[in-house]
Amino acid sequence: NFNDSKGFYKCIIGDHIFYRYEILKILGRGAFGQVILCKDHKIYNSQVAIKIIRNRKKLYNQGKIEIEILKYIKSCGKGSNKNIVEIYHSFNFRGHLCIVFELLGPNLFDIIKQNHFRGLNIQFVKEVANQLLKSMNILSKEKIIHCDIKPENVLIKNVKKNNEIKLIDFGSSCFENNTIYTYIQSRFYRSPEVILGMKYGLPIDIWSLGCLLVELFTGLPLFPGESEQEQLLLIMQVIGVPSKEFIQKGTRSKYFFNDDYSPIIFPNSRGLLHKPSSKKLCSILHLPSDSLFLHFVSSCLEWEPEKRITPENALKHIWFKFHEKSQ
Ligand code: ADP
Ligand code: MG
Repeated sequence: NFNDSKGFYKCIIGDHIFYRYEILKILGRGAFGQVILCKDHKIYNSQVAIKIIRNRKKLYNQGKIEIEILKYIKSCGKGSNKNIVEIYHSFNFRGHLCIVFELLGPNLFDIIKQNHFRGLNIQFVKEVANQLLKSMNILSKEKIIHCDIKPENVLIKNVKKNNEIKLIDFGSSCFENNTIYTYIQSRFYRSPEVILGMKYGLPIDIWSLGCLLVELFTGLPLFPGESEQEQLLLIMQVIGVPSKEFIQKGTRSKYFFNDDYSPIIFPNSRGLLHKPSSKKLCSILHLPSDSLFLHFVSSCLEWEPEKRITPENALKHIWFKFHEKSQ
């Protein structure tokens, strides 16, 4: 038996996969399985990352979708997709779906942690934003929603002193005309329309991007909700309450709002923290109200998906045209 009780493949350092890949190290472990560093004996001096999916039917099927979407993106790319992880190939090994990827470096959560959660400089945040938006612009042209943008799913590849930022983990992605799941996105980065049970589309990724960029800049998650109710309260604390028309569109709004559309304030120890509009984004960022970065993230964090900036327009935002001095 090659698996543990949860369906993870038991990786042994030094073992081979099909005589080709030698297992060197475990790079990451998540709900889907593990990602391992391998030496590729077929190509001289090369290393790859292999995602070994747990042998569970549902995860296997989701892995198939991840492969389909990544191959699709690769086929329409012609070299222009340098901000999306490259898939090399995939195969089955001892009942596990395996996906072979180009090897990348640390993820953004690792970077924030290495920096002791103190926040990164604005130049770096801008570089991440710019490159991530290029990947999101491609996804948006192909009508693909990533559905799980967060620091752990953005990796850095160091190429001769230059950072290349790459989006990974298409295990929850879908085409915009085929949104089957309602329970998506990691909670801290979950958009209001998903929380409230509305129709959703590409703008959910822009919401997550806004949360991610603020986190990079401050070092701490912007909306660290411990439950969905708290998640929405934390959002309202910063961007105020949504309109009545917006609330009416949600199939789950009754769990969050009273009949008069006022937010239900749940009794908990952190209750007082949740007063709508009580915390301003500029004070969280410690930036003046005319800051271009503040303006940029505000346009990602709009209640209404239609009002949120698109990747195409975001790439033209004036924030990218100026070089910050000291912020
Ligand atoms: P999951 O679906 O379980 O979240 P991911 O695809 O996000 O799986 O991979 C889990 C972790 O493994 C990532 O957060 C990252 O740290 C690491 N990882 C994934 N792909 C690569 C890669 N190509 N190169 C290096 N590390 C990777
Ligand atoms: Mg992941």
